[in-house]
Parts: sequence; structure tokens; C-alpha cells
Amino acid sequence: MFSGFLRIAPSCDVCELDYGFADAGDGPAVFVMFIAGFAVVIPALLVEVAFSPPVWLHLLIWLPLTVAVCVALLRPFKGVLFALQYRHKAEEGRPDGQDE
Ligand SMILES: [Zn+2]
Repeated sequence: MFSGFLRIAPSCDVCELDYGFADAGDGPAVFVMFIAGFAVVIPALLVEVAFSPPVWLHLLIWLPLTVAVCVALLRPFKGVLFALQYRHKAEEGRPDGQDE
């Protein structure tokens, strides 16, 4: 369903389902930000309290970890939100009586 790292293909290769409905927007990024935040900030605080390493060592450890966590999670989360959007027919709201 992806045509790039995060780009959604125009349609399914197998069943030719049109992916035009797909727009997860910022949804995946929000989940990934929260998860990466907790996954990095809590260990960073614990390491600071336990070892008090210099700032450059913190940056050396936590910046690459932050990037790695975000890159690893963005695509799966985008896929899940895409699937949920399709499954629940989530789309932009319309005023009553203007369906289709
Ligand atoms: Zn398909």
C-alpha cells in the first residue's frame, strides 16, 4: 500500500482498491511523538539521575535513539491508521442531508 517510505500508493496492487479516501493527516505523527517521547525522556531522566553524564553524551545517546524510534514507528502507525480509516469509513464530516 506504500509507494514510498510514507507515501500511500494511488491504489492497491492486488484488488485495485482506490486509496483516494486515505488521509491520516497528523494522526500517525501524534502517536509516534507520544511514544517516542516516553521511550526517550524517561530513560534519559533515569540515566541523568543515576550517572549524571555530560550533556554531549546525552545528545549522543538520545538524539539517534529518538530518530530511530520515530522512523521505525511511523510507517506501521500510518498503515494501522489507514486500515482503521478504511474499516470504519472515517471521513470528513458533512452537514445533514448532504450525504453523497
Ligand atoms: Zn487490495
